[in-house]
This record gives sequence, C-alpha cells and structure tokens, in this order.
Amino acid sequence: MPKFEQIIYDAAEPGIVRVVLNRAEARNAQDTRMLYELNDALDLAAQDDDVKVIVIAANGPHFSAGHDLREKDPVGTQQSFKTVTTWGGFEREGAEGQFAREQEIYLGFCERWRNIPKPTMVEVQGKVIAGGVMLVWPFDIVVASEDATFQDNTVAMGICGAEFFNHPYELGVRKAKEMLFTSDEVTAQDAYRLGAVNHVVPREQLTEFTMELARKITQKNLFSLKLTKMAVNSAEDNAGRASTNQTAFALHHLLHTHFKLTSGMGVDPEFMRNFGKKTS
Ligand code: ZN
Repeated sequence: MPKFEQIIYDAAEPGIVRVVLNRAEARNAQDTRMLYELNDALDLAAQDDDVKVIVIAANGPHFSAGHDLREKDPVGTQQSFKTVTTWGGFEREGAEGQFAREQEIYLGFCERWRNIPKPTMVEVQGKVIAGGVMLVWPFDIVVASEDATFQDNTVAMGICGAEFFNHPYELGVRKAKEMLFTSDEVTAQDAYRLGAVNHVVPREQLTEFTMELARKITQKNLFSLKLTKMAVNSAEDNAGRASTNQTAFALHHLLHTHFKLTSGMGVDPEFMRNFGKKTS
C-alpha cells in the first residue's frame, strides 16, 4: 500500500472502498501530489478483485476548489511519481511541456478514471469549482448534498472550460454554455434536474445515503457490472464524448498559449491580478 498524504484510502466495508480527499484546509485544491495519490488509490481499488464499488468523497465543507494555483514545484513533484501516459516531454519549455503535463494529469487521469471498469460513485458537498468538476464528471453515480454547487469559471480566467470537458454530456449544451459564459454556479437541484446528479440529500445524510446505494450495487455480479458500465459508456462515446474532449483540450491550450504570448502568463492576467487581491 503506498503512503498517502493528501487522500485517505479506506476499505470501509466488504466490497466498498472509500477514497477521500483530505486537504480540507485548502478546500481540497488539487496539487500534483493529490492527483497522483488519487490516481494510485483508484488503481489500487480497481485492481483489487474483492472491491466492487469505489466511492470518492472529500473531507471538509467543500468538495474541491479546483487546481491548486499556488503550488510551488509542480513539475518537480510530478517527477517523483511514475507517469501514466506515454506522452513525455513534461519538462520542455513553452506549449510543449504544459500540453504534456495537462494531457497527463488532467485529461489523461480523468479518462483513466472514467474508464475504470467497475462502478464508481462520488459524494459531493459545498463548492465544486473549475478543476473540481474533473473529480465529479468521470465517476458513474453522483450524490450531492443540498448545499453543493458546480461552477466552471475558467472563462473568467480567459480559458474555454476545464481540461476534462464533459459538461455538454452532463448538463446538456444549453446549460453547459450558460455555466461557461457566465461563470455562475449550478445548484445541486439544477444539476439533478438536468441529469448531472443522481440524488440530492441533506448534508448530514450524504455519506450514509451513498453507502446504502453502494451496498445495493455490491449485491450484483462484478463481471455483469463491468459489462453494464461498458455498454452505457459506449453510448456516450458513440455520441462523440471522447473526441469532444480532445477538441476542447486543444482549444484550451490555444488559449493558454495565447495568454503566454501576449502577457507571459498562461491565463488572462486580469484574472490573476484579482485572484491575488481576493485571496491575499
Ligand atoms: Zn489548463
């Protein structure tokens, strides 16, 4: 078992593993270590044949504030983990290195997690911001507490959506456009109404409700569950989901590069000025 610092790997009950983001003091902002630890934990649970359902959860009032924009040495941290894609070139300058890194730890990880053969569930509370949705969309069943909100404010940063761009498939194209154009939060109830969330429950019932659903799934045959998931996932993939993600990812990097060329920063410098003011 690897030593985890930013997540908890909890073999909660027979057949169920809970992988819990444990960086509440930073609103579970995702730095490189957290993402690699999450990926390692999901691999571990996926490869354990006694596990039928994997539940992703987060400690603290908020599920995730997105990518950690204050991380000190992201590339150095990445070098201490075994990479999972064959892209390479993570240390290269300019668009080459940034594209490689985001291909690995954002789009690459999310596609891997989405394609874990066994059922995955996620319980969500409080704020889910920008990169936060990348820890929700890849998983099969979403249970949200009444206070949960989903926001992708990357357009306010000058970018055209988070690196894992499942939004149109989760919310439908109209709400996806509104969410992105305005940077407004989508409430748990709206997400439920649109089919992006399976259930909305009071905060204090979130974990027990999710576990009860997970227990029901553990009663089923694992091979049947895996093939069922493959069948449903193929419906989305046949509707162009994976290629939509690749297109959106390329456009996302065009904007990173545009702002690098015009201002030396990978996002709109206006946003970063306000970000510094708001949070310092
Ligand atoms: Zn990016």
